[in-house]
Amino acid sequence: MNLLRYISVFLVLWLFFPAVSARSEDVYTQKRKQMIKHDIKGRGIKDKRVIDAMAKIPRHLFVPAFYKDKAYGDYPLPIGEGQTISQPYVVALMTEALNLKPDDRVLEIGTGSGYQAAVLAEIVKEVYTIEIRQRLAEEAEKRLKELGYKNIKVKHADGYFGWQEYAPFDAIIITASANHIPPPLIKQLKEGGRLIIPLGRTVYFQTLTLVTKKKEDLELKQMGGVSFVPMIGEARK
Ligand code: SAH
Repeated sequence: MNLLRYISVFLVLWLFFPAVSARSEDVYTQKRKQMIKHDIKGRGIKDKRVIDAMAKIPRHLFVPAFYKDKAYGDYPLPIGEGQTISQPYVVALMTEALNLKPDDRVLEIGTGSGYQAAVLAEIVKEVYTIEIRQRLAEEAEKRLKELGYKNIKVKHADGYFGWQEYAPFDAIIITASANHIPPPLIKQLKEGGRLIIPLGRTVYFQTLTLVTKKKEDLELKQMGGVSFVPMIGEARK
C-alpha cells in the first residue's frame, strides 16, 4: 500500500514539474516576443541582426531572480552594486548605431550583467568587455560562459584605458556615462570606426553621442537624451 502511494506521488511530481517549467519558459518566450514587437520594432529599430539577437537572448537570465518577471519590460533594472542593466530599447538603439559587420571586433566598457556583450556577440566575430567592479565582472563572465558564448572576453579593469592588447577596434560602446570621451579609447578605435557614449555632466541626464573617427578628426552625432550610471575610476579624476 505504502509503495503504491510512493509510486503515485513520484508519478505526479514527474508529470507535473516538467510541465510547470516548460510553461514558464513559454512565458519568457512570449514576453520576449512582445518586447521585440512593441519596444524594439515598434520604436523604430530596423537592423535585422539586432532584432534577431534580442529575440534570441534569454534576458531574464541576466537579471537577479527577483526581477525575472520584469526582465522584458522597457526599463533598466538593478543588477546589484547600485548598477543597472540598460533598457532593451537603448541597447538596441546603441547597437544599431554602431552599424556592425560580421567580421568586426568590438570593445565594450561597462560589462554589467553581460547582456549588451551577448547582443554584440550574436552579431560580430569578437567582443571584448571591461568591467571595473570585480563581482559584476566575475558574475558576467560565468553567465556568458554558461550560455555558451565563446567569442566574448571579459576583463576586470578600468575601461578608461581600453584594451591595448586587442586594439584597434572596429567599434567601441561605452555603457556608463562620462563628461568626456576617454582619449585612450579614441586611440584604440580604427580609422572610420564608430564609438557610442552617453556624454554629459549630470548623473541623471546625458546625450547619447555617436562618434566616427575620420582622419585626425571626430565626427559627432547627437542621438537624444538617456540616463546611465556614471563611469567611475580615471573618468572622474
Ligand atoms: N552594459 C551593461 C550595463 C552597464 S551599467 C549590461 O548590459 O548589463 C554600467 C556598468 O559600467 C556598471 O556595471 C559599472 O560598474 C561599469 N563601470 C563604471 N565605470 C567603469 C569603468 N571605468 N570601467 C569599466 N566599467 C565601468
